[in-house]
Amino acid sequence: MGNDLIQIGSGVPPGAAAVVAPRAPEFSPAIAANGKSFYIETFGCQMNVHDSEKLAGVLMARGYRPVETHDDADIILYNTCSIREKAAQKVFSRLGAFRKSRRSPPSGVAAQKIIGVLGCVAQQEGEKFFERAPQVSLVCGSASYAKLPELLDQLESGNRRVKGLDLDTEDCFETEFTRRDNRFRAYLTIIEGCDQRCAFCVVPMTRGPERSRSGAKIVADCRRLVDQGFTEIQILGQIVNAWQDPSPAHWSFAELLGRVAEVPGVCRVRFTTSHPRYFTPDIVAAIDSHPALCDQIHLPVQAGSTPVLARMLRGYTREEYLEKIHFIRQSRRPISLSTDIIVGFCGETEQDFEQTLSLLAEVEYDQVFSFKFSTRPNTSAQNFADNVDEEEKGRRLTVLQEAQRQIQWRRNQALVGETFEVLVEGYQPRLLQAVGRTTSNRVVNFPGAPEDIGRYMQVKVTSAGPNSLVGERIAI
Ligand code: SF4
Repeated sequence: MGNDLIQIGSGVPPGAAAVVAPRAPEFSPAIAANGKSFYIETFGCQMNVHDSEKLAGVLMARGYRPVETHDDADIILYNTCSIREKAAQKVFSRLGAFRKSRRSPPSGVAAQKIIGVLGCVAQQEGEKFFERAPQVSLVCGSASYAKLPELLDQLESGNRRVKGLDLDTEDCFETEFTRRDNRFRAYLTIIEGCDQRCAFCVVPMTRGPERSRSGAKIVADCRRLVDQGFTEIQILGQIVNAWQDPSPAHWSFAELLGRVAEVPGVCRVRFTTSHPRYFTPDIVAAIDSHPALCDQIHLPVQAGSTPVLARMLRGYTREEYLEKIHFIRQSRRPISLSTDIIVGFCGETEQDFEQTLSLLAEVEYDQVFSFKFSTRPNTSAQNFADNVDEEEKGRRLTVLQEAQRQIQWRRNQALVGETFEVLVEGYQPRLLQAVGRTTSNRVVNFPGAPEDIGRYMQVKVTSAGPNSLVGERIAI
């Protein structure tokens, strides 16, 4: 994961009103409020989004109250992403805005808010963060989130700077309380860290070595989530399919998927992010056998040229990747495929880039997340010449995205007239439209009502664009 990043587009038509999507029922551990408030801003992938849910749970279990703006918060936390230069820069620009931030408590004595930096940039910069951004008093990596209350206690007892930067801990999987943002879909971490060393990626350094949770604990968590009303489980890991059951049961990843899919009340199971190296036919067989496993696989390729893949240290060739695609396409179900691509990696020639375009045409993905390469600190690509200039990277990105747009348009057009089960996730009041997703993760907009949120409905596709479908509800 990390660079193997999946993002979910909103699929909301331009100019539409914001989608109203309900939060999970208010999280209420039986803890008295401590009078203090917090605000978390999250950057990056689903792993970070879920980390913020865990952080919020940890804080609320200690009596802290969540608020919607920086201004109202006593504690401001940035959960950061360092996968691309732009993402890392965002946090410094946010911190710049807060350099002079002061809050006047009732006594009239000026008091500074507590500003904390969490996640990948925190882990990467470590204590250097305090010099670079003196307004920051707390730095904490993702493996140490369970220690957050302890770190806040240390600040309150007079320490000026506190840090939690241990890696290789198991506290990071799931915290005792998690405040989930979505009422129907629950993220669940099954493996943390990464033992690969892709040349462009900082994740092994910021999230530490791979640690898997036991299969039995994961299934028990799923049962608990169903009891709380969640019907879709999204299993997470930087390399989710590298999961290895540490218990004597030694379930395979495919077996785990089947067990989660069989938990009564689970209607949909997604998993992200898979690494091609560990992607085996039994995962496709599990999808074929378990209707609750979604028709969706995200399989990051990163580049279509074998020499570039070798320099990236991805651990597979173009041909080996295409073999995986071949057996996915043999599935009895119409599995939708998405991927991540980096353009302009060190030494990528025009011919290499053409190979990526030809791979795109051959696979016909349903969604592609594409990025320009940027060198990250503490990666082996730092030692290579970043010799594709910015303008050329931009050109390649535009060409690739336009090619993909055409593919998506064509593939979505082919769905007009078909009927899909859609889980309604939101409502656009201005357009009187419900917004949901198919099992293949396609966004569908259709006339609906706010009370449709959380329901599974049959929707017939009436028109299609490159990024979303429009439909009408079918009575059954
Ligand atoms: S090192 Fe490679 S496999 Fe591991 S998180 Fe980064 S991109 Fe994914």
